[in-house]
Amino acid sequence: MSHLHLASPPLPEKFDPGIIRARFPALAQHVNGYPLVYLDNAATTQKPERVIRAMDTHLRRDVANVHRGVHALSERATAAYEASREAMRDFLHARSSRELVFVRGATEAINLVAATFGRQRVGRGDEILLSAMEHHANIVPWQLLAQQSGAVIRVIPMDDRGQLRLEELDDLLNRRTRLVALAHVSNALGTVNPLETIIEAAHSRGVPVLVDGAQAVAHEVLDVQRLDCDFYVFSGHKMYGPSGVGVLYGKLELLEEMPPYQGGGDMILSVSFQRSTYQEPPYRFEAGTPNIAGVVGLGAAVDFLSGLDRAAVATHEAQLLDYATRSLESIPGLRIIGTAPRKGPVLSFVLDDVHPHDLATLLDRQGVAVRSGHHCAQPTMECFGIPATTRASFGLYNTTSDVDRLVAALGNALEVFR
Ligand code: PMP
Repeated sequence: MSHLHLASPPLPEKFDPGIIRARFPALAQHVNGYPLVYLDNAATTQKPERVIRAMDTHLRRDVANVHRGVHALSERATAAYEASREAMRDFLHARSSRELVFVRGATEAINLVAATFGRQRVGRGDEILLSAMEHHANIVPWQLLAQQSGAVIRVIPMDDRGQLRLEELDDLLNRRTRLVALAHVSNALGTVNPLETIIEAAHSRGVPVLVDGAQAVAHEVLDVQRLDCDFYVFSGHKMYGPSGVGVLYGKLELLEEMPPYQGGGDMILSVSFQRSTYQEPPYRFEAGTPNIAGVVGLGAAVDFLSGLDRAAVATHEAQLLDYATRSLESIPGLRIIGTAPRKGPVLSFVLDDVHPHDLATLLDRQGVAVRSGHHCAQPTMECFGIPATTRASFGLYNTTSDVDRLVAALGNALEVFR
């Protein structure tokens, strides 16, 4: 039987991080002689049994190309692929599954919008408004577009806690603004941006908004209709699904007006050497054989998250962030970067003059996995006058004992440096 999504899911199970943790096989291993403490969830999350099993079953039994064959395996693969799209529609509370395009990830989704919507609507002297805390994936595609079109990039600044200065918004949004593109949650700081306010301000001037949800989708319960964003993008691998697959949500009326992104099989209605005609969304934007196993795995990740009490998950992650913040603040010489009142479970910090890479290496030797570097957010680092941070980021399977291990490992590392 193919991977099925239940039309009306059972009531969510009671959330217990200890029980959930046991469903992630990778978390049971030792690293450098220590039980693994995985605190690099903002880079990518580990995968639950459910996702591994769904992909394994697909690869063992249901491999065929989608949307093409009439044989049983192709029908099964197509049904599973489209069931994932429907599960995703429900997860995002989108109006129609036609509003969901499967792509490689957040990066490809933003490039797709820049190359289609952007090229169609942005011209010389027009403005694209970003925020000061964007990931490079939400900067560089717009710069490429600006170089081609003669458009200008403008930036909503932030304060020293890592909050956007919304009082600047009125001046920044003007009759030349063609799009606002910003992160829901900052990957380097953890700041949760006040999307409702920004979207309302943009829409009151007729400006559409693209939200980079890469760091939000595993943590926030989403309702794209209520949010009223025009585009919402994210990657599967940060929400307990596989890498190489992600989603572009776009309002149907916008997707329908957009020209194709890549040309090839599956996105056409007819082809001749004179001209080709194209499918309706979402297929117009899914040229070539897609990442079928990845989409099946992503559907299983959606089922996994949807089966949980998401409010309880959010409470657990907020408590964990709070506990970790208080624990790290007590370490002499440690400065937390990003102290906005509303944060996702991301904790960036610098420690005296210790280089973040050296620190991360010493933590790894004690089995604690964190990220160090600029986190693909060099302009964010620049705002804080630093080249890099060490970043601990939490997932639903982390516990306060993981935080205690981090703090102990930091203490041991400091002994080496002092
Ligand atoms: N935006 C944000 C906020 C991110 O954190 C990331 C991943 N670090 C991306 C975009 C890009 O995601 P991907 O590499 O999966 O395309």
